[in-house]
Amino acid sequence: MAPTKREPLLVVLSGPGGVGKGVLAEKLVTRDKNLALSQSWTTRIRRSDEDPEAYKFVNRQEFLDHQNHKGFIEWNEFLGELYGTPVPDASAAHDILLEIDVAGGNQIKENYVDALLIFVDAPSVEEQRRRLLERGDTQERAEERIIEGERERIEAESLGYLKIINDDLEEAIKRIQEVISEKRAI
Ligand code: 5GP
Repeated sequence: MAPTKREPLLVVLSGPGGVGKGVLAEKLVTRDKNLALSQSWTTRIRRSDEDPEAYKFVNRQEFLDHQNHKGFIEWNEFLGELYGTPVPDASAAHDILLEIDVAGGNQIKENYVDALLIFVDAPSVEEQRRRLLERGDTQERAEERIIEGERERIEAESLGYLKIINDDLEEAIKRIQEVISEKRAI
């Protein structure tokens, strides 16, 4: 008998700005052909060094229209900008990696009980600040993200996120791959 096709697994990767979620997400999907990165929509302006495909960059009206047509499975406002995850293709042959904030992950968990929630953190706030400034955030923006990160850290803990410290990149990737494999085996 042919194996029953299971629903795609949703893997949520959350964490404060500057902890290296983007690099982790990219490496995870490159190395795992059964995992594809969801492209979020945002009203935020693209950073000059940012991949044009990092998001679907839209204006506020386009975002709200899509939202009204039930085009998002979750969305949130972060530092004044809107971010949303488009409805995934239920017939997709691969699992889906979402790089979204903790509140978004919580909305996902409410609708997809099997989703895997992972909170990636920097080894320290000093290291987080260094990474944010290095990637081009202004001092003010970096401090905002640090404060927001502190709030998210507490929220993630209360929501039962699995915490992974991104100190050594390869170690962090290995650990995430392990938990994904465990979840797929269930
Ligand atoms: P950034 O501006 O640094 O790219 O993203 C700001 C925050 O929004 C990050 O915590 C990022 O994970 C989160 N984010 C990105 N896409 C989405 C999304 O589709 N939904 C939600 N809820 N958060 C998102």
